[in-house]
Amino acid sequence: MQRRPLIVGNWKMNGLIEIAQDLADGICAGLAEREGRLHCEVVVCPSFTALNSVNRRLGRSSLKMGAQTMSHHEPGAHTGEICGFMLRNVGCRFVILGHSERREDQGETDDLVAKKVVAAFRDGLTPILCVGEKLDQRKAGSALSVVEAQLMAALPHLPESPNKRGQLVVAYEPVWAIGTGETATTEQIQEIHGALRQVLVRELGEIAANRVRILYGGSMKPSNASEILAMPDVDGGLIGGAALTASDFLAIIDAALHQE
Ligand code: PEP
Repeated sequence: MQRRPLIVGNWKMNGLIEIAQDLADGICAGLAEREGRLHCEVVVCPSFTALNSVNRRLGRSSLKMGAQTMSHHEPGAHTGEICGFMLRNVGCRFVILGHSERREDQGETDDLVAKKVVAAFRDGLTPILCVGEKLDQRKAGSALSVVEAQLMAALPHLPESPNKRGQLVVAYEPVWAIGTGETATTEQIQEIHGALRQVLVRELGEIAANRVRILYGGSMKPSNASEILAMPDVDGGLIGGAALTASDFLAIIDAALHQE
């Protein structure tokens, strides 16, 4: 099954409005130059404060926008929270959920992340569900069981329709490789991605599972993107540091474009 590659930039807590706009402009210009051969989908996830301004810069660009988290609640009395309807309203189509930094800094549990995945579908956003083991878990030989458990927390709660289920995006991000410059080997990546695909087939059925895109994240950069993206179960990347420079991000997009 041919899945459309997906390249997502996670801008994290970086960028005042002007910087975010400039970055978005640079990426839009790069995508326009690649028009006609841009068979991959490209998404940027600015901070909440820059969403509206970045959305205004997208114009007719194929660049799409996502948020870095959302509340699982419906609109109402939840001070400081932002729900999916609001993200849609400001132009988001995607939302990153369960990023390891939020699991660590905000104490997000598998249970809460699963509720957010359900809420994202409810609110018409495509969830990018992050899973990944910590270094001690890998050293203890439990990387596979950790990521399977993180995925399994959400799968039973997905919508029934195979079409909807197939829209789920999973991002495998080994925590020890995020922002560290250290990348998992292609063997380690394919082993986890292959196992995640098997779980998806078992739980969602072949049709939906074969549509789900599984991204790799963790110090992906222009110099290593090609070999990572060449792995059979790697359908794209979730990129942090290298997504903050238009030329690096575009070079990773080029690596995805050269896969075929
Ligand atoms: C991330 O935060 O999702 C990420 C992969 O970051 P980096 O590319 O900087 O490792």
